[in-house]
Amino acid sequence: MPRRRPPPEIWEERRRLVWERDEGRCTHCGAPLTLEECHCDHIRSGKLGTNEMVNLRTLCRRCHVLRADIRHRGMIAAALRDGIIPPDWRGLVWDDE
Ligand SMILES: [Zn+2]
Repeated sequence: MPRRRPPPEIWEERRRLVWERDEGRCTHCGAPLTLEECHCDHIRSGKLGTNEMVNLRTLCRRCHVLRADIRHRGMIAAALRDGIIPPDWRGLVWDDE
């Protein structure tokens, strides 16, 4: 069974708490983010990931897209189109596991 997100109202609350804990900044590059623009990343994704606070962190869109997680690949095309990442984005991919 793939991990499921909790109901939207619970997820929104969790996302806000993570953003507050991370002081409204991307935990990878430090960019300041509004609650609306922040991305809530699962540090461990897939089967082993949970929606617990300890497994969540705030990222900016760019860092989220560039994280070396195969589940994020679906975001690449839109990020390229929007100019969030450069055409040579492959050299910028990162991970911390
Ligand atoms: Zn960032």
